[in-house]
Order: sequence, then C-alpha cells, then structure tokens
Amino acid sequence: MLAACGLRVTQARLDTVRTLLDSQTAMTHQQMQSRLPAMDRVTLYRTLDSLTDAGLAHRITDDSRVAHYRVNRQHSAGMARPADSPASPGIHVHRHGHFKCETCGELFCIDLPDDTVFALNETPTPWRSFWQQVVTRTLGPGFQASGCEFTVRGVCTRCTPL
Ligand SMILES: [Zn+2]
Ligand SMILES: [Zn+2]
Repeated sequence: MLAACGLRVTQARLDTVRTLLDSQTAMTHQQMQSRLPAMDRVTLYRTLDSLTDAGLAHRITDDSRVAHYRVNRQHSAGMARPADSPASPGIHVHRHGHFKCETCGELFCIDLPDDTVFALNETPTPWRSFWQQVVTRTLGPGFQASGCEFTVRGVCTRCTPL
C-alpha cells in the first residue's frame, strides 16, 4: 500500500498503517500512541501526515478539533470505485461520511449512496464546484470552498445497552 502511494517503506510507516488497519474506527494520535508506545511522538505525527498527504489515509477533525485518522480503502464490499480514482488495488478515495458516537466519541467511516449529493474533502472537482456555487450564491464572491464533511451522529454498538 505504501509503495502504491509512492511512499518509501519505513518501519514507522509500516507500524502506523498496520495499527490503522487493525482498528474499526478512525484513530486519534493519542490512541495510536498507546498502541505504539515505542514510537516517538513527533515521528508518529510526521508519519500520519505523510500517509494523509500521499492519499493513503484520511484525517477527520471532530467537534473538539481532535484529528482522527483512517486508512483509505473500500469500507464495504459492493462500493464502486470512482472512475477518476487512482488504480491502486485495495486503496481508493471515495465519497464517504462518518458516524460519530455521541457517547464515546469514536468515529466510524460510512459509505454514502452514489446518488447522494454530498461533497467531501476528497471529492473530485464537480462536487467541489457544486459547493463553490452554493457558497458564492449565499456568501458572495471571494469565498473559496475546498471541501465539506458529512457526519451522522448517534450511538455505537458498544455504547448501546443490550
Ligand atoms: Zn460509542
Ligand atoms: Zn473515513
């Protein structure tokens, strides 16, 4: 996956990607650090940045401005690969949103239906220009849209009493 994204394979990157892949939820730096106690704090930050910049992972910022990271990949079977995505097997960026548990604060990636008009950070140009039009129409010229996020709130299975 690292090679497919044009990244040099290093132990820190391997450990970071493995840890991200092991988690069902998007992970904060703090959660990552507790699973990788031997890794230097700054190295972990830099590694997460390099993975995000290379398109191997994505960053979601929650209400309290805490960044959560997750590997970009097919979140579920049956998700179509967008025509304009890079042809890296197992990795792709697609339109997706997040489910936020209001009890524990965990973030889960969710697939959005193809016919839903939601523009996300990683969306291709048509989606961005859609939101640019909305912004320009309502706020006037000069505001630049770079993306938007879609989050469903609720309670996760761990926090739901059975
Ligand atoms: Zn929860
Ligand atoms: Zn996600």
